[in-house]
Amino acid sequence: MTIALLAALLIAPSAEAYTMMQNDYGASLYWRQMPIKIAINPENPYGLSDDEVEDAVLTAAETWEAVGAAIEFEYLGFTDTAEMGFDQENVVFFTDQWEQGDSKAAMTYNWTTEDGAIVSFDVGINSENYEWTTDELDPVMDIENVMAHELGHVLGLGHSDIDDLATMWESTSPGELIKRSLRPDDENGLLANYGADVPMGLACSSSGSSSGSALGWLVGLSSAGLCLQRRRRDV
Ligand SMILES: [Zn+2]
Repeated sequence: MTIALLAALLIAPSAEAYTMMQNDYGASLYWRQMPIKIAINPENPYGLSDDEVEDAVLTAAETWEAVGAAIEFEYLGFTDTAEMGFDQENVVFFTDQWEQGDSKAAMTYNWTTEDGAIVSFDVGINSENYEWTTDELDPVMDIENVMAHELGHVLGLGHSDIDDLATMWESTSPGELIKRSLRPDDENGLLANYGADVPMGLACSSSGSSSGSALGWLVGLSSAGLCLQRRRRDV
C-alpha cells in the first residue's frame, strides 16, 4: 500500500504555479516573431561600466534562452533612450525619475496587439530608490537577478504563485541572487508559452493593464509590478 500510494503521489498532476501575463482583452502575452530585439542604456549613478551592465542584462537573457524554448533575443547594443514609450525600441534603462512607486525596484511594460502578441517592451530600473550592483558580494540590488525576472515578464510570464525560489516569484530583496537561476516552474512557464502543444497557464492576477491606440496600432499596455512585502521589494 505504501508503494502504491507513493507512486500515486509521484504521478499526480502538480498545480501549475507559473502564470501568464494578460492584456485587457484577456489574451495571454507572447511574442509571435523572433528574435526579440533588445537595447541597453547602461548609464547609471553607481560607477558600473557599460560592459558590466551589458554583461548582467545579456547573461539574464541567455539564461532564458538556455531553456530550449523557441525564443531568441537579438542584442542591438547601447542606446541613449531612458524612458518608457511605445517607440519600436525595446530598452533596458535606469531612471531616477521613478513614477511607479518606491516599492517597485523595476518595471516591465509590454505593448501588445489585441490577441496578445507583444510588439514592443521597455524595462525601467529604479535608480531613484535603490542602489544596484553586478557584484554578487555587494548587498544591494543585483542587476542580473532582477533582470532575469523582468525578462520573464518581457517573455509574457506573470508571477509564480507558489515557488518562492522561482525567478518569477513576486518579490526580491537587496543581495538576492536566486533569481539568476531558473527553477523548473519558470522553465515550464516559458515552455508553455513557446513550446508546442502545451496548454497556457493561468492569468496573472497581479498584472495591470490599459489600452489605447498609438502609432496606428491597437495596443494593450500591460505592466507587471510586485506586491509589497515587508523588507522585500517588488520587481
Ligand atoms: Zn514581476
